[in-house]
Amino acid sequence: MQSISELYKIGFGPSSSHTMGPAKAARKFLTFFPHADHYEVILYGSLALTGRGHLTDQVLASLFKSENKLLNIVFDFKELNLKHPNTIRFLAFDGNNFILGDQVFYSVGGGNIIQKGEDPQQVKETYPFANFSSIKKYCFDNNLSLPQLAKKFEDPSIMNHIELVFRTMEKALQKGLKSEGFLPGTLHLKRKAQLLLNLEDTFPTRAEKRAQTIMAYAYAISEENAAGGVIVTAPTCGSSGVLPALLYYYHHNLKYPLKSIYEALLVAGIIGVTIKQNGSISGAECGCQAEIGVASAMAASAIAYLHKLSIDQIEYAAEVSLEHHLGLTCDPVDGYVQIPCIERNAINALQVLDAVFLAQYVSYDHRVSLDQMIFTMLETGRDLNVNYRETAQGGMAKIFKK
Ligand code: SF4
Repeated sequence: MQSISELYKIGFGPSSSHTMGPAKAARKFLTFFPHADHYEVILYGSLALTGRGHLTDQVLASLFKSENKLLNIVFDFKELNLKHPNTIRFLAFDGNNFILGDQVFYSVGGGNIIQKGEDPQQVKETYPFANFSSIKKYCFDNNLSLPQLAKKFEDPSIMNHIELVFRTMEKALQKGLKSEGFLPGTLHLKRKAQLLLNLEDTFPTRAEKRAQTIMAYAYAISEENAAGGVIVTAPTCGSSGVLPALLYYYHHNLKYPLKSIYEALLVAGIIGVTIKQNGSISGAECGCQAEIGVASAMAASAIAYLHKLSIDQIEYAAEVSLEHHLGLTCDPVDGYVQIPCIERNAINALQVLDAVFLAQYVSYDHRVSLDQMIFTMLETGRDLNVNYRETAQGGMAKIFKK
């Protein structure tokens, strides 16, 4: 299993697979062919179908422009025989239009890329575990908590990264709460985080006030992401609002110390890398269950840890969160990471608390393991019609017209 630092990436929104991944691939290609006369990039599959809404073309155009390189961008909507739904091809030409370089990359989710021909198994392994059952067994055998396990196997610099991750989440959230006006794109969607937070005090119960606050926080991050701001993938850009909304609430409103928040991020990270290894964190591969479903599982494990639940209960909280997102489709309207993504982050931040509640009181009888649920999610994702896997061809993207 890979390091948690490969999961929590800091970068520009709105989409880890459609902006961060292609930008990373472009930088890699440019290191191979830095002196070409001009370049071409061809976007296929989901990158072609939702690339404009996800700002793929803008990110690539500005990256090549900042390097003083000429770039032509092609959207190929016809090629369907793809090894991965997020395929991108770069070409470098000399002044006579002869091809100097031709490389294909796959943007596999969470800002990660694989170059065609590269063996995905060769990525550096940080944890010697195949699944969550083996992690749990190792913790029991060695009397370790999940954060202790992470600190044992990760590089010592991991805590610096985790601190930076939480500081970035805080900054994005605070910026989102201060921002007003409309999000970029054709939907003309108004930002609502500030409005939600400042609603008149018409919420008599503590639970309602809590819901209002957490949803405002989730909106703040998700709107910042949709605006192309700097956020942390948790596990992706589109689903980056769930975990920080809850951790920010527990730290700033409930006064949980930073040390506990950082440990909770490690716990969520272990759940995230386990799902990334054995399932998917890509909407183009498995639909939104692989983005919001995984974000919810990660957040549920983090909050369960803050509530001092056992590893079994943490597993249950993550499993139950993932289970009730099975089959969740990805159908972003006009290809923008706005409808349904922003609301979805807010609603799911609240549902995480229900999963933790169940974990606290009824997990003693749980039958389905997290590993089984990860496998089920992957199978379900593979069975999902391609129209519901980040292509903006089905569901709301088809029915709803602005
Ligand atoms: S619907 Fe879900 S998977 Fe699709 S872009 Fe939005 S957050 Fe990502």
